[in-house]
Amino acid sequence: MEITVIGSSPSWQDADGACSGYLIEEHDTAVLLDCGNGVFGKLRGRFDHHQIDAVVISHMHADHILDLVPFAYALTYGPNRESKPPLLALPPGGLAALRSLCGVWGPEGLVEEAFRASEYDPEKPLEFGSMTITFGEVPHFVPAHAMSIVGQSGARFVYGADCGPSASLVRFAENSDLLMLEATFAEGDPSAGAESDSPGHLTGKQAGELAAAAGAKRLLLTHISDERDVEQTRNIAEQAFGGPVEVAGQGSSWKL
Ligand SMILES: [Zn+2]
Ligand SMILES: [Zn+2]
Repeated sequence: MEITVIGSSPSWQDADGACSGYLIEEHDTAVLLDCGNGVFGKLRGRFDHHQIDAVVISHMHADHILDLVPFAYALTYGPNRESKPPLLALPPGGLAALRSLCGVWGPEGLVEEAFRASEYDPEKPLEFGSMTITFGEVPHFVPAHAMSIVGQSGARFVYGADCGPSASLVRFAENSDLLMLEATFAEGDPSAGAESDSPGHLTGKQAGELAAAAGAKRLLLTHISDERDVEQTRNIAEQAFGGPVEVAGQGSSWKL
């Protein structure tokens, strides 16, 4: 199983960057986790979008869904329209949210008609080729779902989506082989606080602590603006984790 970072910016893109989008490939199956603004063009730079089997969305924030729109236009009006469109797995309520979004300028069904779209039940796993995806709800400003992806080897990649500190995510990510957590807030940001404050995002220190508590083997940080000191965040996370921490830079990839 190979994980490639198509985009990892937070709610506004880094210079020449893209928001959340992670390509997971195993054998001839390709799944895109999230499709934020900037992702579709970056994806096309390295992968034929017609070969995407499924897009799975963690939550309905703009930086995780907006490039479903150009992706839908490509599927609707671009070449190879006769090929089977990708599945689009949305969180509960996702179909209505996309209809509202597309209804601003045109047909409400643009995205759901271009893909084979449906809402997933977070209690039930999804299977794509040799990969199985399960979901775990995490604290955020809207309902959000972490995802665990297990490939043929049994190795497990966990994507924490956007989330605040969470005991349930610690359990969900327990003993993961590769854990990718957001580190949106700078240390000392007044918006960051304890779990009881429902901050909705993590600092680097909180990400490191969460990964250590989960016993994750490796930690990747994502969703950090290039206007922040990324290396400082990585160092702080590393101290809290007690092991090496990497940053999910655009274009980087990991094999499990
Ligand atoms: Zn986000
Ligand atoms: Zn979000």
